[in-house]
This record gives sequence, structure tokens and C-alpha cells, in this order.
Amino acid sequence: MKKVDLLNVSKSYDGHHYVIHEISVSIETGEFFVLVGPSGCGKSTMLRMIAGLENISEGEIWIEGRKANHLLPHERDISMVFQNYALFPHLTVEKNIRFGLHTKKISKQEQKRRCQEAAEMLGLTELLDRKPRELSGGQRQRVALARAIVTQSSICLMDEPLSNLDAKLRAKMRSEIRQIQRQLGITMIYVTHDQIEAMTMADRMMVLNKGEIQQIGRPLDIYNRPANTFVASFIGSPPMNLAKVKFEGNVLIFEDGRAFAISEKVSKTVKEKDLLIGIRPEAIRLARNGENALVVTTVNSEILGTETFISFQMANVQWVARWNGQWNIPIGKKIPIIVNEQDIFLFSAKNGQRLYSSPQEKSSFSLEEEILL
Ligand code: ADP
Ligand code: MG
Repeated sequence: MKKVDLLNVSKSYDGHHYVIHEISVSIETGEFFVLVGPSGCGKSTMLRMIAGLENISEGEIWIEGRKANHLLPHERDISMVFQNYALFPHLTVEKNIRFGLHTKKISKQEQKRRCQEAAEMLGLTELLDRKPRELSGGQRQRVALARAIVTQSSICLMDEPLSNLDAKLRAKMRSEIRQIQRQLGITMIYVTHDQIEAMTMADRMMVLNKGEIQQIGRPLDIYNRPANTFVASFIGSPPMNLAKVKFEGNVLIFEDGRAFAISEKVSKTVKEKDLLIGIRPEAIRLARNGENALVVTTVNSEILGTETFISFQMANVQWVARWNGQWNIPIGKKIPIIVNEQDIFLFSAKNGQRLYSSPQEKSSFSLEEEILL
């Protein structure tokens, strides 16, 4: 048995419509597990069911090998951090942090010790006598975190804890939360709608849409092999470019009649005629002289400093290419582009499932190998 097991868990608020549908997943001890999906897909509902704040309609939840369906929240050895921090405005930082220990039988001395330890870890020592309104957003978030840490629960649930912070602070807190989780060996179930948080923080993640599992896996495996078009366009920014194509002979034909030839190796793996082709923005490059290029017309370009996003029309949709460096490209310019066959994805137009992606490993770098060279 794993730390947290969900077996065919479903939830309906009205007895007719499922907002969570047959979710099964095992979360390992010490794992940082991220639930990611668009707003309204059921993330908070799932977390609240694990915490015991919401009944489950069908299925089973097991925590450390114990069936937990009917356990009360405080019987589950779980701490929780919410998006709005849920701090008490009239209590000091110290009292807010120690509040999590009230229901447990823990001596005053031990409470104080744990509070000081957590405050130190999170840089709150100087602020213990302040009230929440005298803190910045980031500091309030740290207090909520400290309150979860002092309970010493082995499982922590977080529901979009960073979404009220500005971008810079979010990036800092991402790394702090990850470090504390490692240091304490907590099993973390972390909810976010932000695919960057999921990619950067997760050991493994579950992509959820409309209450159903789309894919579970390690971030890079999901990025490199998305199970369907939903995952392909949800994970990665700018998203994967997609377009309808017909597969005839060894050629993919776009809706505007342009053709992309594929090798027999790829074509023999695909049995359907109506497909979606998928190409990541970074896989589109400028063709060199003599290469068999597609010529496209730019509709926009955005220079971000270290890279440039170039938008162009591809049949009925706009695609984006992502190039390193600063490219000054006028709008309306015709540019020749090219994509390597190993960088294309093919999905079924019927159900969006992935039919083909290159079996080759993507080129990720290893420090050891680079230093030895
Ligand atoms: P997320 O956290 O991913 O944004 P939620 O879990 O909050 O999504 O909500 C999932 C779906 O369940 C939504 O359609 C939402 O309207 C519905 N929902 C959430 N809570 C309730 C409730 N108490 N009663 C009825 N429907 C609810
Ligand atoms: Mg939510």
C-alpha cells in the first residue's frame, strides 16, 4: 500500500453530474505530487475529498494502508494550506502558527519550540508578534505554510497556495516550498492551474480535465509524450501548435493544400486518415538555402529579450515559432520554415489521442557528461 491511494473515486454534488469521474492513483511516501488542470476541472474537490472536508460519492480513499472514507479530517494526519491563507486577522503570527496545534494534545513548551523552528525555517522570526494585516502577501503565505509545518503531519495538501502572489515572489516560493518539502520528507499533494508550477515542482503530476484523468507521469515524460491534444496544448508555453491534416500516401495535407512528406517509418504506424499534426514552437526553425521549406507569412512577432515568438498563419490556425535571440521580423514577411520529422506528433482527429511521436529520447543534458567532455 502506498501513502495515499484513490480507487475509482467519483464525486457528484447533485446525484447526476460527475465533477470527478473514476479517479485512481497511488501517491508514494515523500513524493511531490501535483494535480494540474484548468479552472473548474475538479482539483479543489479532489483535494477536499482527500482531506475529509468533502464526502466522496463512489470509490475508496486509503491513507497509509487504512481505508479513510469515513475518517474525520483530524484523524487523517494531514495538514492543508489554502489559496486565501485563512489566517485569523485578530491573532498574532505566532498564535496563527500555533493554531494548528490546538486540537492536538501538545505541551505549551513543545508548541513554542516547533513554532520557533518553523518561523526560523521560513524567515518569520522577527515577525512573530505582528498581525496578518502588517505582513506582505508573501509573508502571509509563509505563515500559512508554517502553520502546516508545525503539525508535523506526514501529508500536506496545498490548494493553489501561490496564486495571490506576484510573478517574482511566486518563483521564489516555488523553490522554497520544494526545499522544505524535501528537507522534511513530507508527502505533498499540490494543486495548481499553472503548468509552470507543475513542470518545475512535481516529481509526478496528474493532468485533469472535466473531472477525468488525462495523463499521470513525470513532467518531462508528459511534455515529451503527451497522451492527447488536451495535454499537448495545456503543458508547454506557448502551447504546442496543432492543425488538421489528411494522411494520404506518405504525405500529410493541410487544409490549405500544403503538404508535409513523412517517411515510411512514421506512416506505417498510423492507421487513421483524419489527423491533427502537433509541433512545439521550439521545433520550428528557419530553413537554410536548398532545404525543402514551407513558406509562411508572419502576422506578429514578440521579442522577449533572450528569445523571439513569431506568429504566422498555417491553414486556418495561427502557429507560433520560438527562436533563440532577438529577431526583427516585419509583419507580412514571407519566411521559409522547416520541421524535423522527429519533432512531429500525430493525434487522432476523432478522439485526440496521440497516435505517433518520435521514439527517440529528447536531448536533455546531463552535467556529468558535459563536464567529462
Ligand atoms: P477547481 O478547483 O479545479 O477549479 P472545483 O473542484 O472547485 O474545481 O470545482 C469542480 C466543479 O464542481 C465545478 O464545476 C464547480 O462548479 C463544482 N462545484 C464545486 N463545489 C461545489 C458545490 N459545493 N456544489 C456544487 N457544485 C460544486
Ligand atoms: Mg480550486
